[in-house]
Amino acid sequence: MTRGGMESVEVFTSEGKGRGLKAQKEFLPGDVIFAEPAYAAVVFDSLTHVICHTCFKRQDRLHRCGQCKFAYYCDRTCQRAAWLNHKNECSAIKKYGKAPTENIRLAARIMWKIEREGSGLAEGCLVSIDDLQNHVDSFGEEEKKELRADVENFLEFWPSQSQQFGLQFISHIFGVISCNGFTLSDQRGLQAVGVGVFPNLCQANHDCWPNCTVIFNNGNHEAVRSMFHTQMRIELRALSKISPGDELTVSYVDFLNVSEERRKQLKKQYYFDCTCEHCKKQIKDDLMLALKEGEGKPSAETVKEVIQFSKDTLEKISKARMEGLYHEV
Ligand SMILES: [Zn+2]
Ligand SMILES: [Zn+2]
Ligand SMILES: [Zn+2]
Repeated sequence: MTRGGMESVEVFTSEGKGRGLKAQKEFLPGDVIFAEPAYAAVVFDSLTHVICHTCFKRQDRLHRCGQCKFAYYCDRTCQRAAWLNHKNECSAIKKYGKAPTENIRLAARIMWKIEREGSGLAEGCLVSIDDLQNHVDSFGEEEKKELRADVENFLEFWPSQSQQFGLQFISHIFGVISCNGFTLSDQRGLQAVGVGVFPNLCQANHDCWPNCTVIFNNGNHEAVRSMFHTQMRIELRALSKISPGDELTVSYVDFLNVSEERRKQLKKQYYFDCTCEHCKKQIKDDLMLALKEGEGKPSAETVKEVIQFSKDTLEKISKARMEGLYHEV
């Protein structure tokens, strides 16, 4: 069985950053380093009736699940593919009388998967759900309050005949979702439509000047023969040439911000101080600041430099994206 490219990466201890991912072979810009299906994923509350719950594509006419009347699918293929993950959810929604919010639905999907497969190391996974990071201990008062509300709502929704989990483990799962939840987009890549957990992907550390980017591939269920169907997945793609032994990094935040803003956002959302080369030396900040308004007119030279710099950056990303689409079967 293929491990989706997982043999070409390795988990290691990155100095000062905890766990990280390292390349085991050479990659060129645009290469898929690995592909990973979601451990669990849900459509956002506001879009549950316009986005397929299996492939996260936006479609004009979706089929509704006749049982819970909550889940929607492109067609029978997507509906069949969803059943393993939807079965418990479907009957729980019927019993509860309504669908809970996206956070609760995602936690419940994770728990049902643990009930089916255990929480140990699954096939093709570099780390187990137990071992994923959460920042619950660093939560402030407001976040603790939200966490308690989530746990309460979860317990109300969670059926008594399903496996029962301790409060600490349930909190761990919500903590994992809040720091590792990855936003998914529809097939045009323009709108965030859902959130999923990808245990391998979240081993990659942040760098403000990353050598990788993440592409969401909605997969394809439209091929006539089902053997050509592909599953929705994320793809970690190289942005630059990567040598064996190099750490693989992605940007958790918009890297067209100045370093101070990036560092604030990283601290607030991910609880760490970025010590990458760009933050330490504040590289490119003069360029980024020139983009901000109300700070006097930048020289023509600076403007040119900023434009070139932004263009190079965006080109790198869109090149990887284009190839992502190109490889879509
Ligand atoms: Zn679909
Ligand atoms: Zn249903
Ligand atoms: Zn940085």
